[in-house]
Amino acid sequence: MEFAITELLDYESSVAWIIEHFHPAGLKCPLCGKPQEQAREFRRTKRSQLRVYRCRGCHMTYNLYSGNVFQQTHLTPMQVVLLMRGICKGESSKVLAKELELNYGTVLTLRHEIQLNAEHAQPSAPLSDTHTETDEMFQNAGEKRRGTL
Ligand SMILES: [Zn+2]
Repeated sequence: MEFAITELLDYESSVAWIIEHFHPAGLKCPLCGKPQEQAREFRRTKRSQLRVYRCRGCHMTYNLYSGNVFQQTHLTPMQVVLLMRGICKGESSKVLAKELELNYGTVLTLRHEIQLNAEHAQPSAPLSDTHTETDEMFQNAGEKRRGTL
């Protein structure tokens, strides 16, 4: 029996999880820093079903993934949550790709970037599954590194 695992999570709770972990201060305009409450939602992306906001301050458009490693991907919020969970649990990229119905190369690339970010945050400490360190890893994973934007 195969579970369509991404269907076990709902969209809104996945979005809330991503905001909590990748944008702990709340979703903001990446250009001028105005909070998302001061933006209007004007469309949804096709594949990821992300709300695209237009900032009322500077008219920049952005979404949940702007400025993080998922920016150029078409992952749904549910896939992002389950991918992060799988990486933290040490699941193989092959298993994750199959479970989440993602391209194997996409999983490898994202895992690599996320782990680089985590190492960047803690140069001497190995990845650990303790709560605090996992949170730090998430926050760092959220930050797309300078020069790669
Ligand atoms: Zn703005």
